Amino acid sequence: MGSANIKAAWEVLREEAAHCTRCDLYKYATQTVFGEGPLKADILFVGEQPGDQEDLTGRPFVGPAGQLFDAALDEAGIDRSRTYVTNAVKHFKFLQRGKRRLHSKPDGGEIAACRWWIDHERELIRPPVTVALGATAARSLIGKVVTISGTRGKPLMLADGGECWVTIHPSFLLRIREEADRRTERKRFIDDLKRIRDRAEKLAA
Ligand code: SF4
Repeated sequence: MGSANIKAAWEVLREEAAHCTRCDLYKYATQTVFGEGPLKADILFVGEQPGDQEDLTGRPFVGPAGQLFDAALDEAGIDRSRTYVTNAVKHFKFLQRGKRRLHSKPDGGEIAACRWWIDHERELIRPPVTVALGATAARSLIGKVVTISGTRGKPLMLADGGECWVTIHPSFLLRIREEADRRTERKRFIDDLKRIRDRAEKLAA
C-alpha cells in the first residue's frame, strides 16, 4: 500500500474509533484518544490508557506521565517525531471522587475489545519495533498476562511476526515515593529505551 493510501486508511480507522462502542468505556469518557505520530515510525509505543488530561485534549501522552516519557526519550536519544504513540485502551477509565477522576485499571475484557484498534494501527504502520509500556500494554500485545520483570530487556516475537519489547509505563516512576528508588528505576527505564533505540536503528539499517 502506498503512503497516501496508508494515510487515508489510518484516517478512516481513527474516525471509526471515534465512534467505537466495543466496550462500555465510551459511555463515561470524553472522547476516544487515538494514536498519533508518523505512519512510517521506527518505533510504536503502546501505553495503558489515556489519563485525565489526555481524555480532555484527545491526545495521547500529554499529561504528567507523557512529559516524563518525553524527557526519557530525549535522554535515550530517541527522536519522538519518529515514533508513533498509542494506548492499549483508547477511552479513559476512572472512578469519580468528588470533582476528581481517579485512574482505574482496564480489565481483561476491555483490553481484549480495544485490541481491535491496536491490531489495525500496527497492520498499517508495520513498525520495526513495538514497545509495550507497562503490563496492560504487554497483555494486549502478547495476548496473555505477563510480568514486566519476566519480559523486559529482550525482544519478543508477536503473533504477526513483529518484534515487541516490554518496559515499564512512565507513570510507574511518578508513583515511587523514595527519591533514590525513583532515580534507580528511571535509569533502568532509560537503559531499556537505549536498547530499544539501538535495536530499531539496527533493523532500519
Ligand atoms: S475503550 Fe476501546 S474498545 Fe472500548 S469503547 Fe473505547 S475504543 Fe472501543
